[in-house]
Amino acid sequence: MKILISVDIEGVAGVFHTQQTRAGNPEYERARRLMTEEANAAIAGAFDGGATEVWVNDSHGDFRNMPPDLLDERAQVIQGKPRYLSMAAGVELGLAGVCMVGYHARAGGHGILAHTINSFAFAHIDIGGEPVGEAALYGALAGEYGVPVLMASGDDAFVAETKPLFPHAVFVQTKRATGQTSGISLSPAQSRAAIREGVAAGLAAQAQARPLVWPRPLAVTLHTQTPALADLFCQWPAFERIEATALRFDAPSTEAAVRMLNCCSAMSALLR
Ligand SMILES: [Zn+2]
Repeated sequence: MKILISVDIEGVAGVFHTQQTRAGNPEYERARRLMTEEANAAIAGAFDGGATEVWVNDSHGDFRNMPPDLLDERAQVIQGKPRYLSMAAGVELGLAGVCMVGYHARAGGHGILAHTINSFAFAHIDIGGEPVGEAALYGALAGEYGVPVLMASGDDAFVAETKPLFPHAVFVQTKRATGQTSGISLSPAQSRAAIREGVAAGLAAQAQARPLVWPRPLAVTLHTQTPALADLFCQWPAFERIEATALRFDAPSTEAAVRMLNCCSAMSALLR
């Protein structure tokens, strides 16, 4: 049984502030180790649960947060960007399932460090009229490859909004949000123990899990943080401007939608 573990940082126990998520300061250096240890707990849980091969996808920021020498040596690590499948890279390897560790609530949600892909550029993203976050986007991208989500961890807001999408998955709540940059966290040790158990339980229920598949084409509406960002993105002729800070496009697949959104995220660096 081959398993992919996609690891973000905002949902990790003990992480509350943007400083902890950005390279170049001591807070980040501590937070990336908390992230790495939650990844190690998930790797251990995957092998407990019967995995024979485990890939770990470093899914935050520049995708090179977890020092490879501190990761469980049984896993293979996917790092660096750009890459077409982004936080879901590895789903093309013929997997039994994916686990999402350290994930966070969608942009506009009430969770700790809630955002979708790029908090500078994207106010929120709707698909088929429904707001979506990263777990929905990348869970549906995995679904397009026939891969179900088996387990996910993050704060209570993340769990509440994501559970309905993956009813057969095991969810682990690592902390409770009391604001965008405040909350009450499990200790890192307790969080790791819960993640290890959660991954093993998710793998045990793999036979019941179903891939999330969205009808195609996808009607995507992207709400930008400023009109200038929408001006920039609408240089791309596939986009239709519908408001000062909103554009829409139809994507032939979830993969195409994710790639187009990540291109916009990259383009937004021009306006930083
Ligand atoms: Zn992140």
